[in-house]
Amino acid sequence: MEVRVWLAVVLLGVAGCATNPVTGKAELDLLGEEQELALGAQLYQPFIQDSLGPIEDEPVAKLVEKVGRQVAGVSHRPRLPYQFTAVNDPAVNAFALPGGKICITRGLLVRLESEDGLAAVLGHEVGHVTARHAVAAYNRQVLATLFLTTSAAVLEAKEVKGRELIWVGGLIGTQMLLAHYSRDQERQSDTLGLQYAVAAGFSPRGMVETQRILLALGKEKPTFVERLFASHPHSAERLATAELLLAQLPPEVQERPLRKEGLLQATASLRQVQPAWDEAQEGRVLLKQNRKGQALAHLAKARDLAPKEGVIRTLLALALWENKKENEAREEAFAGAKLAPRVFLSRLIAGMMSVATDAAASLGELAAAEEILPGTAPVPFFQGQAFEHLGQRQRAVEAYREVLRRDPKGELGKAAASRLQALGSR
Ligand SMILES: [Zn+2]
Repeated sequence: MEVRVWLAVVLLGVAGCATNPVTGKAELDLLGEEQELALGAQLYQPFIQDSLGPIEDEPVAKLVEKVGRQVAGVSHRPRLPYQFTAVNDPAVNAFALPGGKICITRGLLVRLESEDGLAAVLGHEVGHVTARHAVAAYNRQVLATLFLTTSAAVLEAKEVKGRELIWVGGLIGTQMLLAHYSRDQERQSDTLGLQYAVAAGFSPRGMVETQRILLALGKEKPTFVERLFASHPHSAERLATAELLLAQLPPEVQERPLRKEGLLQATASLRQVQPAWDEAQEGRVLLKQNRKGQALAHLAKARDLAPKEGVIRTLLALALWENKKENEAREEAFAGAKLAPRVFLSRLIAGMMSVATDAAASLGELAAAEEILPGTAPVPFFQGQAFEHLGQRQRAVEAYREVLRRDPKGELGKAAASRLQALGSR
């Protein structure tokens, strides 16, 4: 909600010139630094949650934060409030929001082979931030979309057995908001990333190593790198450029050894469960393609490989539900919520699936989801459903009115309006 208020302020015109920190040139700029920081801070949690929540693993979180701070600390904008978060998304990706809010996915993290490779990835993202690429992209195309989608949480609503089921394909539509960079901007970020990594003492070969891994993966498992390649195409060219840049560095820098142990140690437990997450990713892609039976098989296998991974249990719950195995789905959903209490999707799905069978438990899960990520439309919508099942008409009406405030034009807004009509309150 707050996004709307201050975005309105932004849109109403604080346009002016700002100096680009990397080029030193003045540029027309809709977002001043203050707004840039506010935008990043506002969007960070939605993006983290849309990427299936933070990885709850201290060594991993510490390593990502440490390496991120090292490269950011020698960058052109060392004093931004950088944050680096490893997220559960099993696809291979990393992205930066304006103001230095950066995520790297589980799928990418486990495929890196050294701290230097991690420094190259994070340095590249820091490069997008310091050169204000995202800000420029947001200026150009995204603000209008952002305005419409930030609180409109649901991509698709459909009817299952007479009651509303919401398939949460993307919670906030955040993927639509990710900046798409130009080839020149990617080149610049690669150069900046390498520069920062080297200045922070890392081996420049980390960058070559990472490009090689990504290129190979793109051939082997294209659906795993889809999103990354949507925003970072031309990977063969990037590898060639990395090799070229490496060759231009002084020999003693080129010969810096890759530091593997720290990364391998910190990510050991992640690597152990990676086969399960790879299955989960296959299942997730199949579910999106509506190949429900196959999706279920992959996700059941994922669960059997790593039964303690809460988010995998949640994804399995979704596949079970889609295959009309609703009792099993509910069981998995509650297992998921218990194992991943800080993941919005896990709490939401448990709340959603138990609306008709255990409205009290459902309300508990939904309240937890709201606390993790306030302001989405599905939470009050299912609260409304739960209150209806409990026969609490007035509270149901209040919840549906909240949906209308949060998502007046979306599917859920329409569904809430029709419930309000049915309850005789409009
Ligand atoms: Zn990039």
